[in-house]
Amino acid sequence: MAILVYAEHDNASLKKATLNTITAATQIGGDVHVLVAGSGCAAVADEAAKVVGVSKVLLADNAAYANQLAENISLLVNELAADYSHVVAPATTTGKNFLPRVAALSNVSMISDITAVVDANTFDRPIYAGNATATVKSSEDKILVTVRGTAFDAAAAEGGSAAVEAVATAADLGKSSFVGEELAKSDRPELTSAEIIVSGGRALASGENFEKVIEPLADKLGAAVGASRAAVDAGFVPNDLQVGQTGKVVAPSLYIACGISGAIQHLAGMGDSKVIVAINTDPEAPIASVADYFLEADLFEAVPEMTSKL
Ligand code: FAD
Repeated sequence: MAILVYAEHDNASLKKATLNTITAATQIGGDVHVLVAGSGCAAVADEAAKVVGVSKVLLADNAAYANQLAENISLLVNELAADYSHVVAPATTTGKNFLPRVAALSNVSMISDITAVVDANTFDRPIYAGNATATVKSSEDKILVTVRGTAFDAAAAEGGSAAVEAVATAADLGKSSFVGEELAKSDRPELTSAEIIVSGGRALASGENFEKVIEPLADKLGAAVGASRAAVDAGFVPNDLQVGQTGKVVAPSLYIACGISGAIQHLAGMGDSKVIVAINTDPEAPIASVADYFLEADLFEAVPEMTSKL
């Protein structure tokens, strides 16, 4: 049986997490079909059809799926899942929201946040905030998994030529409705897909200091801004900037941690970054143990100096 990948998108274009998820699906083995559920989203289906490794795209284009409400999406996916051995979704807010509902509807367990495919039934996933890796084997007929995007390379976005097939099912449960959304607008790259991240911690002491110290460096580097939970809880920055166990999981080429101690819950979100730079007054801070470059310095002096020299 084939594998169904749920596409993450905004009705206009495919989100990058989908490409990482497709790679995980191809590693499981078998035909990979991609479901594009949305409204006015034919362009997304065409984009998905070009991704290397995809053999078919299912297009569920209906007003019921416009905002991808988990109640409606889970019903659709549950119905389609009958023809598939695996349903695979990115471990994003959307995937984490609808796939457990599919698991409940189809009465199977779900394996979340996989970081490696061992074989078609066996997967690695982090436990204890990334301190250990569990290898989980499923003995069920249907396997539902969410995929940690940073653990898999993105599939090539161009080069495939899959057929697009319309799905007739339209499920509007009427249990929830979309009221509105407030999207943070920023010219900076999105945190989870940024190549460079400059993060600030409690040591910043205020939101103004984030603006004065962290943001200019981020702008010079074309980087995204991140933060520790302490900085978020203190109200210096909004919580969508939080990196860590209860925030976002990132793996940029370069992660610069300014005034962040490196608590285990923070490391769980950025430990896979390729190069880690830490700027901290305390050489004993735990972040020193994962940093490739550790600068023992006051961030209020070191960061503006770095910014001015770039
Ligand atoms: P601190 O630990 O207070 O560290 C501040 C650092 O700044 C220190 O190392 C200090 O030496 C340094 N410093 C001080 N002044 C300066 C200066 N002038 N220049 C340079 N360095 C300076 N945390 C997360 O980040 N993300 C999460 O997702 C997350 N999830 C959690 C989930 C749970 C269930 C729990 C219990 C905790 C979680 N935490 C998370 C919180 C985590 O345990 C830490 O409390 C938090 O990460 C600390 O943030 P911090 O490093 O900014 O602050």
